Amino acid sequence: MVIKKQTIKLKKVQKNSKPSFEKNKKITKKPVVKTKATVDNKGSEVTKKTEEKKPSKKFSKDLAPLRGMKDILPKDEQFWKAAHHEAEDIAHAYNFGWIETPILEEVSLFIRSIGKGTDVVDKEMYVFEDRDGSKVGLRPEATASLVRSYITNGMQSESQPVKVWTCGPMFRHDRPQAGRFRQFHQFNCESFGVKDASVDAELIVVAYNFLNDLGISSTVFINSIGSKEDRDNYTIELVAYLRSKRSYLCDDCKKRMNKNPLRSLDCKVEQCQPVIEDAPKIIDWLGVESKKYFMKVLEYLDELEVPYMLQPTLVRGLDYYTDTVFEIYEDQDKADTQKSSQGALGGGGRYDLLIGQLGGQPTPASGFAIGLERVVMALKNLKEKGKNIPIVEKRSKIFFAQLGDQARMRALGLIEKLRREGVLVYHNIGKSSLKGQLELANKYGVTHSLILGQKEVLDGTIIIRDMDSGIQEIVDQQKIKQELKKNNLITIKSE
Ligand code: AMP
Repeated sequence: MVIKKQTIKLKKVQKNSKPSFEKNKKITKKPVVKTKATVDNKGSEVTKKTEEKKPSKKFSKDLAPLRGMKDILPKDEQFWKAAHHEAEDIAHAYNFGWIETPILEEVSLFIRSIGKGTDVVDKEMYVFEDRDGSKVGLRPEATASLVRSYITNGMQSESQPVKVWTCGPMFRHDRPQAGRFRQFHQFNCESFGVKDASVDAELIVVAYNFLNDLGISSTVFINSIGSKEDRDNYTIELVAYLRSKRSYLCDDCKKRMNKNPLRSLDCKVEQCQPVIEDAPKIIDWLGVESKKYFMKVLEYLDELEVPYMLQPTLVRGLDYYTDTVFEIYEDQDKADTQKSSQGALGGGGRYDLLIGQLGGQPTPASGFAIGLERVVMALKNLKEKGKNIPIVEKRSKIFFAQLGDQARMRALGLIEKLRREGVLVYHNIGKSSLKGQLELANKYGVTHSLILGQKEVLDGTIIIRDMDSGIQEIVDQQKIKQELKKNNLITIKSE
């Protein structure tokens, strides 16, 4: 077991990744500066800085979106699509069924599940009175709604585990800052009905692979908060400790000490950090069963080669967690502070008491949520650094170029056939120059293009061109799909 090794590594990471993201940064919009390489009159390359045009603000202020909310624009479509496609792919690969629940629910659902004394419930929920006088809330997270749906749709009588995934908007009236919005989107996976270390490990591997497949390298920070009994025992010890250090704590932690003392361990305020570092560690208060369970989760992660670090202060702020808790952070480039200001890409854990607490048969459960705004930001950073990002259906993309009238006609039929067979085919039938079409293919980032000219129309063939090497192969038009598949150039969704 690697706990010692991991603990040592952890200290290093904590030091370097001081959570500056929680500092109350004021966001000021600077014009984006782009660099452009040109050649001067002596023939040497010079780099010019050009300012991107600021959007003109010729509209009244009340036309803008609400604070902390924003439009997602076509220029970012590729990143959002990549995240959504990957979410669907990975969820299906691990057998999670798609589910969608309403955005608006009875506010009591969130209060009962997330818990009073948490920032989400006390400060951040959008709550208002419906027309019939009932109190409703915009969901601040998905787990409570998914649990509600599991109970009210009788999923408890289906074969367990019931595994579901969803993607959608969440709402928290938080202070907007880097990576923190009032409307944001999450990818959620939940597994209901089975308590086993393999279930927790599977969820962690799904979250990790989701990011990894998108080209985002990440590390899982993990801890166990044990059973409710372990947690209650530990909380007594923690409160006594925090009281003894009261004068060193920020005002929020002074309040949290009574309402939700575990939450103090999550505090990002600089002055509280030494107190948190020396606080008693919950792992030392775990009972034999909880410890054994946690070790098993770690063994699975070792086996699955998921990089993780133990983080003894990680408790996650919400009432409903038991045993395993985890968060995932993008691996830090130390020089790049902007990235760390985003905070965790995702987090989750086991919550064995929640279904019972909400009125269902007591049923174990586990899940995670990944924030898509932060994923999109990470993808953009990677792209800016020239990293090759698998944007939109990594292997399924292909470009179709045609030359001449007859080829254009045939191309449409072939494109449609391929599309129906599940291959995503980019094309621009309106363009006639081959050079222009291949430039477009490069812009889309495809690895291969199909080229159909006059000669190929006549002899029933088509060219497959490797866009990197320029190597071309001639294949039978009737066998395009098989040839692409044979060479691993596409994966067919419907198969
Ligand atoms: P949480 O439920 O708070 O653990 O959130 C899970 C993930 O959702 C976080 O790791 C973030 O990626 C994302 N997230 C949470 N709150 C926000 C927010 N206000 N704005 C943007 N993303 C958020």
